[in-house]
Amino acid sequence: MSTEALSDDFLLLIVSSPSGAGKTTLCGRLRSEFPDLRFSVSHTTRRPRPNEVDGREYHFVDPNTFEQMIRIGAFAEWARVHDHLYGTSLKEIEIARATARGVLFDIDHQGARQIKASLPEAVAVFILPPSLAELERRLRGRGTEDEPTTLRRLRNAKGEIEHYGFFDYVIVNDEINRAYEQLRSLVFAERCRRQRRAALCERLLSERRFER
Ligand code: 5GP
Repeated sequence: MSTEALSDDFLLLIVSSPSGAGKTTLCGRLRSEFPDLRFSVSHTTRRPRPNEVDGREYHFVDPNTFEQMIRIGAFAEWARVHDHLYGTSLKEIEIARATARGVLFDIDHQGARQIKASLPEAVAVFILPPSLAELERRLRGRGTEDEPTTLRRLRNAKGEIEHYGFFDYVIVNDEINRAYEQLRSLVFAERCRRQRRAALCERLLSERRFER
């Protein structure tokens, strides 16, 4: 974390994990508890799952549209993940800056690195399962993917976990309530960082009271 003043109250929170670690559930809870943290709706070329709504979970676009957006520089970051393209538009971050007290990014480690490169004050959290066997059990239990996709995601898991050294925090989701407690505590703690309090401290110091 850099020591320059951070924008006072604006939190850029990145949550990443291998598929099946519980990130979507944890992010869903964060979204309910912290409505002032705007969920960044990514663009993707992946097909919507039955319960997904365009514009809510993702902006679902075709590969041509996605590539056109890359060409015109519309993305803050983008990456190929499990054979599909995913990206965060600059517009998502602009809207959040204008309307919210922070952004919640549900993106992979490649996107996390790109966001941190341009916005070093972003905080990156990695959610991990307690074991690979448990990851498999959860991903299969979720039933959202066909068998080849499930296998591809499981095979990719280790390659994602290799990037743990990049993250600021690692939360082990062995029990969802406990993992969520840790995640929400982190939001509170990050909002108390000294660097975010510079304006308040300066204001207190400028008050003309109790001076000799
Ligand atoms: P899913 O297909 O399960 O919704 O997401 C697959 C992976 O893509 C997850 O790890 C998710 O965090 C990641 N992802 C979703 N949106 C983005 C994005 O905008 N950029 C990047 N780099 N990864 C994303």
